[in-house]
Amino acid sequence: MPDGRFLQIPSTHLLGQNFSKPFNISYEDKDGEKKYGWQTCFGPAVGRIFAAFLAAHGDNQGMRLTWEVAPLQVVIVPILHGENKELIEKCIKLNEELKEKGVRTYLDDSDKTPGEKFNHWEMMGVPIRVEVGSKELEENNLTIKRRDTGKREKIDSEELSGYLEKAPEEILRNLKKQAEEEFEGKKVNVNTIKDISKALKEKKMARANWCSLELDGEECAEKLSAETKGAKVRGERHGAKETPSGECIVCGKKAKHVIYIAKEY
Ligand SMILES: [Zn+2]
Repeated sequence: MPDGRFLQIPSTHLLGQNFSKPFNISYEDKDGEKKYGWQTCFGPAVGRIFAAFLAAHGDNQGMRLTWEVAPLQVVIVPILHGENKELIEKCIKLNEELKEKGVRTYLDDSDKTPGEKFNHWEMMGVPIRVEVGSKELEENNLTIKRRDTGKREKIDSEELSGYLEKAPEEILRNLKKQAEEEFEGKKVNVNTIKDISKALKEKKMARANWCSLELDGEECAEKLSAETKGAKVRGERHGAKETPSGECIVCGKKAKHVIYIAKEY
């Protein structure tokens, strides 16, 4: 997450006997003794996936959504100075054409000022804004504002279809790239436990050599957590093969993993 903390999303939990005791879930073991059950649970955590998505890709203006996720993919904003029937008709036609092509589009012809509309739809994360003013009408073009890059450009009215065919993949690629860059910027290689605390204080995450992710590494994990006041080993980086060089940051044994350490929510 942007503040350097980790958010737990779909995973399993070892609940232990935390719930079986208060709910009296028990069984009789082979010696006829009553024992409390040991439980695990698994949750896909859809709400958390969305929360993580919004937090990771949003910016100071609000949400930034990918084409697939966005409830509205395009918003059309007429820039009116007084009444202009022709301009509104162009917007209505454009809106209908896009709808027919299966684009989730909305024509904002409310009484708000263009600036208010811009802010509102940017906050809502609509990937593409199409502005139509008297100049666009005259020149038969459209002004496009992209939510992923913040760039504004003019395109010919006839080019819109082609533009919207390419844009979804570009938007996804840009948002992913920006998030990856942010991830890289949060990464601090550490060699001592003191360095970990320093990195976390600066809202970064620590990356370190680690002895074992099996049970024999538990002691190191507990020591690390105690000495850093609650930071935890969050595991290896998904989809990346990172080779350790050196010794475990806690016990000094030969490292077998490169792990990330952060606080969680
Ligand atoms: Zn160790």
